[in-house]
Amino acid sequence: MKNLIIPDEELKKYGTTATFSGKALALLNQQKMEWELCAKNYSGLKTIKTKIFKFNNIEIKLQFNPGRIKSTSAKVDKESIKKRKCFLCIENLPAGQRGIKFNDDYTLLCNPFPIFDEHYTIINEKHTPQQIKGNFPVFLSLVRELGDKFTVFYNGPQCGASAPDHMHFQAGTKNVMPVENEYEKLKRKNGVVIYQSGLTLFYAVNDGLRKMFFLEGTESSALNEIFDEFYTKLADLTTAKGEPMMNITGFYNENIWKIVIYPREKHRPSFYYLEDAERLTVSPAAVDMSGLVIVPREEDFEKLNVEIIKQIYSEVTINDTGFNRLRNSVW
Ligand SMILES: [Zn+2]
Repeated sequence: MKNLIIPDEELKKYGTTATFSGKALALLNQQKMEWELCAKNYSGLKTIKTKIFKFNNIEIKLQFNPGRIKSTSAKVDKESIKKRKCFLCIENLPAGQRGIKFNDDYTLLCNPFPIFDEHYTIINEKHTPQQIKGNFPVFLSLVRELGDKFTVFYNGPQCGASAPDHMHFQAGTKNVMPVENEYEKLKRKNGVVIYQSGLTLFYAVNDGLRKMFFLEGTESSALNEIFDEFYTKLADLTTAKGEPMMNITGFYNENIWKIVIYPREKHRPSFYYLEDAERLTVSPAAVDMSGLVIVPREEDFEKLNVEIIKQIYSEVTINDTGFNRLRNSVW
């Protein structure tokens, strides 16, 4: 455990340590050289297959990635979680894994089952439940500190996090998820401004596939306020216990935060629960909602088509009534 954090002196051998994103890259270089599982799984990424579907100029990328099967099919019910050892607790991390400190509470690790050429998990050092309430300021500072190279994302405990019992964020290579490149276009063509104050803007966006909220601005305090209000309004729409379901993806360009929030209706689409021959092992989280659909089984990769993808998004995205209530409420 005492060896987890790599001191800057050692990290310097693997890359620049002038910025936090630079340190993250140096860490990955170190891990690929010194940790066999990490080396193997990142070099495995070179052979993954991708496919692109178009929906009225919106792009949805499919990635066949067998390494993600554990995460996609993770059992996240209370009983299963109780029975297993938490894989994000520091004492349970594999021997070769190292990390760098983000702040007093969080440590950045390389994700050993990557979707991106650079893929990180940023864990709270304590075993504390996955929740965005109270942690959105940390999310914003991660987005800013990693933003020149990476995009940061959050999966709610009931919609994509495979460790709902341990607080964490993830980050991946910038501009790989289609929504990042389409953000401005989606805003213009499919967005309605529902709040504006100075440079702080909040949009409701329905692109026909997904219903989303875009939050952007230059002041973290203003963004935090809007987010808190959004959280309360979303929680009021449901009688279900726990955090209202959502995924969040955030990027940072020219000192502006751009945050995409995906309120969710369901964790997994109906296809996930069908009998073997009909079953599709697709379990949407922030990355999938952002247009990069991860498919761990090759037969599903072959089977997925425009119609099925539409159906999946329509099932897991917030329903029209909920979306319209949020859009039409007073901000
Ligand atoms: Zn834990």
